[in-house]
Amino acid sequence: MLQNARHILKKYYGYENFRKGQEHIIDSILNKKDTFAIMPTGAGKSICFQIPALLLEGLTLVISPLISLMKDQVDSLESVGIKGTYINSSLDNGEVQDRINKAKEGEYKLLYVAPERLQSWDFCQLLKSIKISLVAVDEAHCVSQWGHDFRPSYRSITELIKELPNRPIVAAFTATATEQVKDDVVKLLKLKDENTYITGFNRENLSFSVMRGANKKDFIMNYVEDNKDEVGIIYGATRKEVESLYENLKSKGYAVGKYHGGLSPAERKESQEAFLYDDIKIIVATNAFGMGIDKSNVRYVIHHNIPKNMEAYYQEAGRAGRDGEPSECILLFAAQDILLQKFLMEQSNISLDREKNEYRKLQEMVDYCHTTKCLRKYILEYFGEEDVEDKCDNCSTCNDDSELTDVTIEAQKIFSCIYRMKERFGTSLVAQVLKGSKNKRVLQFGLDRLSTYGIMKEYKEKELKDMMNIFIAEGYLGLTEGQYPIVKLQQKAVPVLKSKEKVFQKIQKKKEKVFVDNT
Ligand code: ADP
Repeated sequence: MLQNARHILKKYYGYENFRKGQEHIIDSILNKKDTFAIMPTGAGKSICFQIPALLLEGLTLVISPLISLMKDQVDSLESVGIKGTYINSSLDNGEVQDRINKAKEGEYKLLYVAPERLQSWDFCQLLKSIKISLVAVDEAHCVSQWGHDFRPSYRSITELIKELPNRPIVAAFTATATEQVKDDVVKLLKLKDENTYITGFNRENLSFSVMRGANKKDFIMNYVEDNKDEVGIIYGATRKEVESLYENLKSKGYAVGKYHGGLSPAERKESQEAFLYDDIKIIVATNAFGMGIDKSNVRYVIHHNIPKNMEAYYQEAGRAGRDGEPSECILLFAAQDILLQKFLMEQSNISLDREKNEYRKLQEMVDYCHTTKCLRKYILEYFGEEDVEDKCDNCSTCNDDSELTDVTIEAQKIFSCIYRMKERFGTSLVAQVLKGSKNKRVLQFGLDRLSTYGIMKEYKEKELKDMMNIFIAEGYLGLTEGQYPIVKLQQKAVPVLKSKEKVFQKIQKKKEKVFVDNT
């Protein structure tokens, strides 16, 4: 079977080899197993259901939420001689009927539909009269309310599958891989004894950096000047931030455009096209920019602010270097940005449960900014890949030549202070107690009477908080969920407190700090 698959890969698509994972996924589907493939956008999932579609009898039904992309996908299938079609709201009834009839007659191998269509009883009846061998569910995380794009209509997929006279093979695809979403997809789509493949998240040509405490404006201005000939995207968190960055760059004479939800559709289209056709080199944008943009030569993506979670970050950063050439993804982190993200979250009117979940995901994003691990390893493990190398030599952690310093004593002081404060406060108050601050809240709670009060006077409050953030990212400390997280000791802190284990952190040498600390 795989031999045939390879033949098709060459004949229709012109590729010599499968990419990592594709072969396993195709093999699993061809062996009639339900299959769950977790791979990032651009990794090549279409081929994973299109090739089986050609090799299996009957029709493959593809459920995709991206109506605007269906036509493009079907056009590109047709251009290589594969028979496919789509049914969505852009067609009139006559056209829908015509396509259904042709599908019944076996004219197509692939039929793309939006999930909303499956909510129509009539439509499902029609599908029952067609031999469907495979149902490929694209963007399968939409079935889960824990994913970042929950769509209730995805729940109809399971109903349809149950109704079909012969149960088809079900293959689900997504780029989101948190445990919760994974479990939900399996449960809600009723995947049976499925094979799961998590693959292809690594983008070798991208380098990852986190800059903590940099003067962001200066950093961006310097970076853009040093990379004048390169194409880049700068993401801001709000329209205001985008406007201000845009004005700054424009006033210095750079060929720059802007893109955010406050612009008219015509303005947005103009910016997007100017960027696509290289009339401008830089685009400053909110996360509204990027869906469906396939520009290959983006050399850098700078985030002026942390996004709300790792999925969003990786998707946005991943717009760099699609051509495989070395490209940079830089995240500028300042602790106060967390508040902005929390504020945006609170505006979004979601249920309490989901809010907790979003807070947790935000914390994992913050942990990325503080980790002393290889950033690529952090990302790949976040997305569920196993056996990731400890060092990639292409991220700001691996390239950081500052030395590992033994911080066991500092860790013990911090941990015991948290313990004495009965694990009831956030990192700011812990830092104030360690510093020996006479702050109102410290005195009000009588924290100045603790034995750990003032035992780290020589540090700045920010340095203490930074240290704690690293301990959080490394799992020695934990934070409760919510707007005002409380810092708690974790199991990992116990042997340190008992002097059974040592702790090391990379401490940046002061002289190497190029950028002014404004946080
Ligand atoms: P996804 O749906 O995962 O976002 P696509 O299926 O659109 O990604 O594939 C992304 C790009 O990778 C497409 O241009 C596709 O032709 C290309 N591609 C897929 N598989 C291979 C392969 N085995 N070898 C080379 N290019 C491939």
